Amino acid sequence: MKIKDILATGKPSVSFEVFPPKKDAPFEPVRDAVARLALQKPSFMSVTYGASGNAQANTVEIASFVQKCGVPALAHLTCLSSSRDRIAEELKTLRTAGVENILCLRGDLPKDASEPPPGHFNHAVDLVRELRPSPFCLGGACYPECHPDCAHMEDDISHLCEKVEAGLDFITTQMFFDNNIFYRYLAKLRSRGITVPVIAGIMPVTNGRQIDRICKLSGTYLPSRFKAIVDRFGDSQQAMLDAGVAYATEQIVDLFANGSNAVHIYTMNKPEVAERIMSNLRGIIG
Ligand code: FAD
Repeated sequence: MKIKDILATGKPSVSFEVFPPKKDAPFEPVRDAVARLALQKPSFMSVTYGASGNAQANTVEIASFVQKCGVPALAHLTCLSSSRDRIAEELKTLRTAGVENILCLRGDLPKDASEPPPGHFNHAVDLVRELRPSPFCLGGACYPECHPDCAHMEDDISHLCEKVEAGLDFITTQMFFDNNIFYRYLAKLRSRGITVPVIAGIMPVTNGRQIDRICKLSGTYLPSRFKAIVDRFGDSQQAMLDAGVAYATEQIVDLFANGSNAVHIYTMNKPEVAERIMSNLRGIIG
């Protein structure tokens, strides 16, 4: 099923994100996590692309498995590190596997490269233009706290406008920990004429040690309320799990209460986290 049709129903949508096994790593643990996550009946499940080390081919395989579990799959596809031929091949395999949704991304260059190899796409908008004539439902990424490569939010939104106009059906945000940042951003997008659904990306933080590094890389603001949680509970796995699930649940309840209809949980292959959040939301999402 196409994500644009799921979102058009107007029902609250909760989706999950998983990452594929790294190159040469076993598939079984990821398949097991996906099968368990599917039992929570998410609206769809997205599968990242090459984000955790050369796992590009595995994205298609895991996306196919998501479909087999009865959940619509959203396959991520980055264009900076993939040749046009490779992208064409991936699309063929995805189509054969019945995957109807693609998240069009630029991705990032490896640390030792300064520009994309000749013939590669430069920005996600180039990938959207290439794929738009196809029947795939297309999504893209957006950044409530501005993309780290862009000096000004207004310029970043101008680039997003261009990407949406090229043919995106929906956009998903980078994680944020302060909902007010999301509300202000959404208002800006609407005032700039972006009318496609905006899916709020929520990261349940269950490991206190990782969060500083992730936020430095992405430029995500950590509210003092959130920092206090990490400072107090970050060293205890169980306490951080409880606190991270509670914080994410509260963010999601607030988003639904304020009119957002679609939330994407960065579940990071952790079914126990998704199960606890979904259990907290049962009465809200039905
Ligand atoms: P773009 O939309 O191309 O934007 C990148 C930068 O270029 C921005 O600063 C933008 O303002 C600027 N820009 C855009 N168009 C132009 C233009 N025409 N001229 C000048 N500047 C321009 N990474 C992975 O490797 N794998 C994944 O699976 C993955 N999944 C993600 C999912 C989500 C929801 C999000 C938010 C991010 C994800 N990422 C993933 C990270 C993403 O690849 C990086 O953030 C990357 O740096 C930007 O990708 P993009 O598609 O947003 O790029």
